[in-house]
This record gives sequence, structure tokens and C-alpha cells, in this order.
Amino acid sequence: RQAIKKEIALKATVSAIKKKILVLSGKGGVGKSTVSTNLAVGLSQKGYHVGLLDIDIHGPNIPNMLGLEGFPPMITDMGVFPIKMYDNLHVISIGFFLEGKDTPIVWRGPLKHRMIEQFLSDVRWGELDYLVVDSPPGTGDEIISIVQLLDKVDGAVIVATPQDVALADVRRSIRFCIEGSIPVLGIVENMSGFVCPHCGNTVEIFKTGGAERLAQEYKVPFLGKIPIDPKIVQAGDDGKPVMIYYPDSKPAEAFSNIINKIT
Ligand code: ADP
Repeated sequence: RQAIKKEIALKATVSAIKKKILVLSGKGGVGKSTVSTNLAVGLSQKGYHVGLLDIDIHGPNIPNMLGLEGFPPMITDMGVFPIKMYDNLHVISIGFFLEGKDTPIVWRGPLKHRMIEQFLSDVRWGELDYLVVDSPPGTGDEIISIVQLLDKVDGAVIVATPQDVALADVRRSIRFCIEGSIPVLGIVENMSGFVCPHCGNTVEIFKTGGAERLAQEYKVPFLGKIPIDPKIVQAGDDGKPVMIYYPDSKPAEAFSNIINKIT
């Protein structure tokens, strides 16, 4: 009975979401959470109803990136209520449910699967235009679970840095999508050049253009470059995404362009 109830709740949640977007990366630290957060915020700024789901179980950064630490979601008989950032932006992260910042997660696949299922079946997301999922790096258990549970994923945004586009990790993420029939919405080249805080010009520290070439090779869209900008680090640390606090910055402009391309 319990299992059937869960199944019905899961179907109800999933069918109330118009577009499900996964944000993927080959490895960690490339800015996947930064991209997920700013895409979700930017979509909500355009008036869409957005859910941001952080299933990066081993590094749930979304609560601090949005300044939502210490606001646990309300758990009631009716289900779990996601944290409301705005009327049209709601957030759930595994980070909300951990006791301490340094709590390690050592769950095995089936346990992770059940937790991700609960994030969909037990959370009262309501009607959403977009669900943006911040996934763990790579193509492991969590991603396989979310793809299965969401039934049909509308697209994946793949984040890479200029240094790692040559590596197999990014290619693996692209192949994962192609083989799983997940449309690749495109590749984002993050940390692409450095914006000088004094003159505003962009300095190419690492090589640039690799992600664009990779996109051409796999015949998937290239969504644009996001420069290295100290404002992003500041924004991430302070829980203030650039899309809200530095709307005139180059990264915010880059995020807006990406959003225009994927909507
Ligand atoms: P991931 O989710 O891939 O592990 P994060 O989004 O957590 O990566 O980013 C890792 C770190 O790099 C964070 O401190 C973040 O603020 C910083 N960062 C991400 N993108 C940029 C950028 N374009 N410019 C400067 N710092 C960035």
C-alpha cells in the first residue's frame, strides 16, 4: 500500500512539471552548482515557476549559495514543503537535511535512490514550469536514479571548464545523454577567461574555445562562456547569486544569454 501511495505521489509530482533540466559535469569544482543556481534564479526572474533540486549528495552547496542555510524545510503530514526563495522559486537540497556542515554521506546506491525518490514523491513542489536539478559530477547512481524517476528529462546542460574539455569526463557526460536519449541543451564553458576588476577586459588564463569545439564535434549546441569573476566567488560565499546581486556583471549577462538559448 505504502509503495503504491508513493508511486502515485511520484507520478503526480512529475506530471506537474513542464520541463525537467539536469545540470551535469564530468568532474567536481567546475561550477555546476553555480550554473544551476543562476539558471534557476534567472528563470524565476523571467516569471517562470521554478524548482531547484540539489541531489549532489556528497557536496550539497546550494543552501549556502542561496543563503538558505539553517532554514530546514517544513515536514508535515501533507509532505515536505520546499524552501521558498521567491513566490516562484522553491528549493530542496540534501544539505537541508544534514545535521552538520561536515556530515559525510556514505549511503549506498539503493538508499540514495530512495532519498531522491522522496525528493519527488514527498515534496510538495506544486505546478512547475522548470525543475532544475543540480546533479553530482560524473554519471553515477544519483543521475541514473533521477533520470529514471523523472520519467523523461527534457534536456541536460553540461558544464565544463576550458582545461577539462579535452578530458574524457566531459565526453562521458555527453555520451551518457546521447545513449540515454536525453537531449543535450548545450555545453557551457565556465571559468573561461578572467575579467580584470580594474579595466573590465577579459584575460584568457586557460585556453579557451575547447567547449565550443567539443559541441561542434558532438553536434550539440554551445551555450556560451562564463568568465572567471571574483564576483562569483564573493556571491557564492555570501549566498547571493550574481543574477540577483550583480545583474550588470559579465557572468550575469552570460547566464541571461544561456537562459535565452534554452527557453
Ligand atoms: P561544482 O558544483 O561543479 O563543484 P561550484 O559551482 O561549487 O562547482 O564552484 C566551485 C567554486 O568555484 C565555488 O567557490 C564557486 O564560487 C567558484 N566558481 C564557479 N564558477 C566561477 C567563475 N566563473 N568565476 C569565479 N569563480 C567561480
